[in-house]
Amino acid sequence: MLDIRMEKTTQPKAKPADESKLGFGSIFTDHMFVMDYEEGKGWHDARIVPYGPVVLDPAAIVFHYAQECFEGLKAYRRADGGVQLFRPEKNGQRLQATHDRLCIPEIPVEDFVQAVAALVKVEEDWVPHLPDTSLYLRPFTIATEAVLGVKASRTYQFYIIASPSGAYYAEGINPVKIYVEDQYVRASPGGTGAIKCGGNYAASLLAGEKAHELGYSQVLWLDGVERKYVEEVGSMNIFFKINGELYTAATVGTVLPGITRMSCIELLKDWGYTVHEGKLAIDDVMKAAKDGTLEEVFGTGTAAVISPVGELVYEDQKATVNEFQIGPVTQKLYDTLTGIQWGTMEDPYGWIYRVD
Ligand SMILES: *Cc1c(COP(=O)(O)O)cnc(C)c1O
Repeated sequence: MLDIRMEKTTQPKAKPADESKLGFGSIFTDHMFVMDYEEGKGWHDARIVPYGPVVLDPAAIVFHYAQECFEGLKAYRRADGGVQLFRPEKNGQRLQATHDRLCIPEIPVEDFVQAVAALVKVEEDWVPHLPDTSLYLRPFTIATEAVLGVKASRTYQFYIIASPSGAYYAEGINPVKIYVEDQYVRASPGGTGAIKCGGNYAASLLAGEKAHELGYSQVLWLDGVERKYVEEVGSMNIFFKINGELYTAATVGTVLPGITRMSCIELLKDWGYTVHEGKLAIDDVMKAAKDGTLEEVFGTGTAAVISPVGELVYEDQKATVNEFQIGPVTQKLYDTLTGIQWGTMEDPYGWIYRVD
């Protein structure tokens, strides 16, 4: 249990007047959560303070060796005015796994959830009200020790910032075009593909820019060894429905264990679908598209929830999925997850954490 000190801002900002123009991740609330780590002292001085710049020594390890990681989750406004989170303990568990991989001391899951809920409670009025809007929460940890030797830092800071965000599909949920990347790779076995560290994103930017220049909205990543098996799409997990059954890459080291992915698998199994978690070759996907058995393709992640894929391009082959329409299973997953998240549907799974 954290003892969280509160320092209120004396200069509260005006809340965004038009919630239909929030966009994503560019407006920030009045406060942030901060906690320090020091060898011998552990995590300490948990506090909620006015949102503002972070001042660090230019030699801080985070700037040079990217000992840094993050999480992403949302606070949702219910119709009754209350606010809730979706499986926040899963983010806490994943942050621990990420910390372990990066030699950063763990934060207890209960403390993580307490910190998230405390910040949301303080910033409750910043949770927008329009349908499909949310308060996006960005927890992150940075290595702060000022030393240029390559080693794990002896000091860290953990932050949570919050950003009111607009409906992801302001113009309706439209399938996207995907470029299958066969040159660059995102992750390889033994690397950091399974954790949310900033370095993974820095390394993925070039492929994303190439895809955009070619007119595609995301990259589909193949495995880093054989460049043969599908792994993720952009910063989302990816599912394929072929001949009535679902396929997604196993989270065995190179694939980020998405909480949306996990929830989709649980829902699909509950609905009686067979879900294969394992290797699926891009050649088999293209073959299924040709013989008409590729029924649906969709990405999953907290920001978009579900992102239907309408077209895949791999080398000189092009596959159109479900005539560029969102498929029925994709739609049902979207409706069910968003229904539970915003509290318009019952939550039979115990996924909701009420902040009030
Ligand atoms: C965060 C992330 C996801 C999605 O995870 P969710 O918990 O569903 O938001 C998928 N892939 C990558 C690379 C990610 O960073």
